[in-house]
Amino acid sequence: MTPTAIGQAGPRALRIAWADGHESLYEVRRLRVACGCAACVDEWSGENRLDDAAVPQDVRPLHIQPVGRYAIQIDWSDGHATGIYPFRRLRELCGCAACRADP
Ligand SMILES: [Zn+2]
Ligand SMILES: [Zn+2]
Repeated sequence: MTPTAIGQAGPRALRIAWADGHESLYEVRRLRVACGCAACVDEWSGENRLDDAAVPQDVRPLHIQPVGRYAIQIDWSDGHATGIYPFRRLRELCGCAACRADP
């Protein structure tokens, strides 16, 4: 469950190539809305604190950096920078047809 390459695939998309040969394409705003940090999701209840409507339609990653060997951290254009995306979660968020079909 390790990415071999992470990069922008146009202004609205992020592409991750995985060590197992899988390739994921993400609409960037969807990743922003899926942020699992303590400011966006209540740590205790798991309740979503983030108002989806408050996330700008044109939000985009300004900077992406690795966090250890297990995650990436994304600085977003809306000023949100505490979001850490573990690789496992990113793989779960993969929107390709093969992954959606996998229960
Ligand atoms: Zn967040
Ligand atoms: Zn996939």
